[in-house]
Amino acid sequence: MNTYQDRPWLARYRAGQSAAVEPEYHTMLDMFRASLGRAPEQVALRYFDGAVTLAQLDRYSDALASVLLDGGFRRGDRMAVYVQNDPGFVIGLLGTWKAGGTAVAINPMNKAHELEYLLADSGARALLCLDSLYEEVARGVIATGRTSVGTVITTSALDWQARDDERVLRPPRPPVPDGTSDLSALIELHGGRRPGAAPPEPDDVAVLTYTSGTTGRSKGAMNTHRTMVYGCYNFRDWLDLTPVDSVLGIAPLFHVTGLIGHVGLSLLLPCPLVLTHRFHPAVMLDALREHRPTFTVGAITALTRLAEESGRPAEDFSSLRIVYSGGAPIAPAVNDAFRARTGIYIHNVYGLTETNSLTHGTPLGARAPVDPASGALSVGVPLFGTVARILDDDGGERAVGEIGEIAISGPQVVPGYWNRPEESAAAFPDGELRTGDVGFMDADGWFYLVDRKKDMINASGYKVWPREVEDLLYTHPAIREVAVVGVPDSYRGETVKAFVSLHPGATANPEDLIRYAKDNMAAYKYPRLVEIVDELPKTATGKILRRQLRDNPPLPGAGS
Ligand code: AMP
Repeated sequence: MNTYQDRPWLARYRAGQSAAVEPEYHTMLDMFRASLGRAPEQVALRYFDGAVTLAQLDRYSDALASVLLDGGFRRGDRMAVYVQNDPGFVIGLLGTWKAGGTAVAINPMNKAHELEYLLADSGARALLCLDSLYEEVARGVIATGRTSVGTVITTSALDWQARDDERVLRPPRPPVPDGTSDLSALIELHGGRRPGAAPPEPDDVAVLTYTSGTTGRSKGAMNTHRTMVYGCYNFRDWLDLTPVDSVLGIAPLFHVTGLIGHVGLSLLLPCPLVLTHRFHPAVMLDALREHRPTFTVGAITALTRLAEESGRPAEDFSSLRIVYSGGAPIAPAVNDAFRARTGIYIHNVYGLTETNSLTHGTPLGARAPVDPASGALSVGVPLFGTVARILDDDGGERAVGEIGEIAISGPQVVPGYWNRPEESAAAFPDGELRTGDVGFMDADGWFYLVDRKKDMINASGYKVWPREVEDLLYTHPAIREVAVVGVPDSYRGETVKAFVSLHPGATANPEDLIRYAKDNMAAYKYPRLVEIVDELPKTATGKILRRQLRDNPPLPGAGS
């Protein structure tokens, strides 16, 4: 079997590491409560000048759960959480679990039609929403009557920003949107209540994290309490983190990297998680200087941007003992440049939405090798308890060094997609995830990614599914046919490009089409480049040849 277990190199490494992961708790709530019991006054969140302790998180989430239950929320119900990297995200998770429900993590960059799809697909009954996102997006979506959302609670980015003794100095908050309840007001009103719901079971779905799938529509990966707890332990034990550490929240919390590698990890240790509402380089740098966190994990573009922002990176980054990065390829030259500026070696990690973050990682202190043929930096070796295989198209196992699809099994792999039994069966045969990533393992057990089997575009770590962009562009009246591909981009790694042909007699220019897409989709998805051609290349059966367009683009057509 192509696994790491029989690799002498890793066996030597592991001999010095802690034993394989054996979680003591099997639900996120039990894990949280154990940390609370050990260190109630431990700061759990640092948010600008504010701090929230574990005891406060417990009280706030008790109040939220009580309010949800009062509103008819029942075991297994879903609450969508549509906020930025704010304390409300963590309160929302804990409150949902205490009410016996499942949280739905929603990307705050999503616009109306994306939000509507996610609310409908998850069947969310409640929504915790940033007040500004409610006004801009959610109010209109709820008003369509096409969702099941009955309870809307809003939260302000200004809450929990100030020290307790500075409440009075807080900037004035915008008014609470009509028809919603304010989270901090509910906490004041219901603080001290204990929700009466039965505690979640290990195999209950704790969070739905939405991913792009083979059909192009987002699917909700069912992160159970058990798989999430394992993901948190994987981080702690692979990286040797302890309660003296603290986490810089660079990754978005709605994504598994932030969900597990920031929120879950800091609740497990427990240790402070530094949040900054969103990734703004200057603000993040201020937080790094002020709070001196010791660990972070995030997209390589964010880390690089942060180092560029700093005029004195060696000093600013000196508190960071351990830095990991995953979600997108790391060019060895980029890693070298980061190290030259900051003195920090970035450890590459690999994982997916379907695996509660990590499956592979560069062992702490090790240097990932670079494949001499492709120049690719290894994504690491499989983590504790993880079996990774390289498969051919018939599901047979490839030999060492041979290229095939990476398939993964282990306690962190989710049991499937929400309400999608057929797609789950195809993606997880016998519980093993077919990742759609193509790669190989070398003789020492290091894994490398070669390409993506799927046509997904990876722009700065944000995954864009071409079909979704195409579907939107098809709603433009001038467009006859469209194909979306990823093209190399010096800053984003890849960026989104659309090839379009126009209806006879129709006129449109690339700028119009880009603006149209920009107005209707999340900022990371809309095409930055549009090229108008006479005809798109197709197979005999009429399928548009996306890969040909990407690799051998046609000459510009009459419309451009
Ligand atoms: P997501 O589900 O958004 O976490 O995306 C998972 C995908 O990101 C994987 O299937 C890979 O294609 C890509 N990915 C994750 N980690 C890495 C990495 N270290 N290097 C290159 N690509 C990665």
